Amino acid sequence: MSIVGDQEIYAYAMEVISNITDDVVSAKYSDPGANLSVRWSEADEFNASAPLPPVVEHPPGHVIVINYALAKQLYRDAENFVKFTEDPRTIEFVNKFPKEYRYHLLLPVEFSRESCIKNIFLASLTWIYFHELAHLNQEHGVVRADGTHLDEPSYADEREDKKKDLTLREALLWHTTELAADAEGTVRCISELHRHFAQGKGGDKFQAEPDLIAASYLLICGLSCVLYRFNGGTLKPAYDYPRGTHPNAIFRLEQIIKKICQALVFIGETHQYEISNREILKLTKQAADLGAYFTYFYLSDRSSDLSELVVRGLYERPEYKRYMQKIISTWDEIAPALKVNTRYPVQAGFLYFSDKYRDYNFGNPPNNEGNKVS
Ligand SMILES: [Zn+2]
Repeated sequence: MSIVGDQEIYAYAMEVISNITDDVVSAKYSDPGANLSVRWSEADEFNASAPLPPVVEHPPGHVIVINYALAKQLYRDAENFVKFTEDPRTIEFVNKFPKEYRYHLLLPVEFSRESCIKNIFLASLTWIYFHELAHLNQEHGVVRADGTHLDEPSYADEREDKKKDLTLREALLWHTTELAADAEGTVRCISELHRHFAQGKGGDKFQAEPDLIAASYLLICGLSCVLYRFNGGTLKPAYDYPRGTHPNAIFRLEQIIKKICQALVFIGETHQYEISNREILKLTKQAADLGAYFTYFYLSDRSSDLSELVVRGLYERPEYKRYMQKIISTWDEIAPALKVNTRYPVQAGFLYFSDKYRDYNFGNPPNNEGNKVS
């Protein structure tokens, strides 16, 4: 087994990001003077960011900053994750769960061991990139400036900034725009993976479906770890009011998994995929749980309960009801202007809260459960 060196990781990361950026620039930044560029930073922390202008700029000069340290850690985490899936203790642990919750093998058979590592890395890095791009595309700097009467650029800094002392209003806007960037970034990421695998291995188009499903599975495996690291290596409790710069990692994951399922179902229906919606749900849950176990056993200090990290579905998270009441109200307030300012709306990329989910959070569920919420 060859050992991949840091320089190789940086070269691979830069090539992938440069190719995607070239495509985005030629498709979406074609106005004279408009540009999107990526800056690689030597800052030694797991972070990516984007300066967000407080007004809509014409033409835009957008910049995404990615730290080399982030790329390196993503790759090492992917290597360790694959090792984790091969560990007999992991296999024994997973085998204790009921069969109906298990999809198939812990790693997809579509890719070799080395390709699994590369695809976890590739998918996670691409997701982070599109999350940053979504902050810029939806002009979140304008939302944050309008809502707080600031006239300076804000910074979409992905690592939880524990020193930043945000007011409640700022925290509301920060958390809501983070969830909005997750939504658009996830849809763009799945669509990019779909494009990447569309031709199928060796030109075999029948391979496109299993390859996309396998790559999406590996993306979810990697995301739990990514979001946990962005939270600064701790699990934030479920507060009633937004606190700090970012939402809780596991709650973000719940929202993202739902988006991934919807995107895969949409692609599947459009391209007549064979996989059923039920299978999509099963594989996304297995991938998310596996990522959560890895995060718990390898990264966390195990101070929180493992059950906290397991994906349950948005309707099994009553501890976030009060929090989501504020987020939904903030989204309803900022969405009209944000949608006008969005440069290139992505289909299904905006945050969306169904009537059923609103009822669940605001206390009108059909079964009366949760009516305690005021
Ligand atoms: Zn962000």
